[in-house]
Amino acid sequence: MKLDKHHFSSLREVQSLDNSIKGHLDIIESENARIAHLNSLFDRRETEFNEAQELLNSKRTELKSLERECHDWEEKVTKAKSQEGSAKNEKQVEALRNESETSDLEVSRLQDLQLELLEELETLEETIEEFKKFKSGFEITKAKIQGEVDQIIEKETIEINRYRERIKSLLEELPSNLKDTFQHVRKMHRFKQPLVRVINKGCEKCKFTLDSSSCDQVETLKVIQTCNSCHRLFIPFDS
Ligand SMILES: [Zn+2]
Repeated sequence: MKLDKHHFSSLREVQSLDNSIKGHLDIIESENARIAHLNSLFDRRETEFNEAQELLNSKRTELKSLERECHDWEEKVTKAKSQEGSAKNEKQVEALRNESETSDLEVSRLQDLQLELLEELETLEETIEEFKKFKSGFEITKAKIQGEVDQIIEKETIEINRYRERIKSLLEELPSNLKDTFQHVRKMHRFKQPLVRVINKGCEKCKFTLDSSSCDQVETLKVIQTCNSCHRLFIPFDS
């Protein structure tokens, strides 16, 4: 098939359709980014929740062991006090009193620690409750947004497919050598202007200079020519 101006017009149309496709792909990308952003927000909260849950478990264990320890000291107090009556002399009474006082101090210290722990547990439990509320609200919001996003993507995909069909039929009508060269160039420069004109005896995009005969051959449709520097495909100036 001989090269004809309308072949290049078809290529220009493909380039312009590709740019339209890019617009739709960008919309899809930004919609997917909305979902990704939501998910990362959720992941961050979930990590905080898991950490709070783990901390809560370990603090509960700590509290139990404090309770046991405190109970042991309380028994020591009771025991020392009950032995006071059967003490044989003042020295023994004093020793028992000392023991019961020391144990009492230990009981108070452990009780204070338990109170502190209980406060920490309360804060952690609040964090966990807040997360549970956030999670159920989040799931509703996410489902709603996901529904919107799915609809937008479906609409955009229909548009893209319409453009793809048009591109396919335009390419099918081209001479195979022009089609192959264009496809090759399009792979490298799709969405980045794969077609260039000769301006001031050079590539309009990268300014690489052509010799006069190459310039003429592009304009008179004698050869299929790509830029030696950026590898874009030359089209006649008035195509
Ligand atoms: Zn170039």
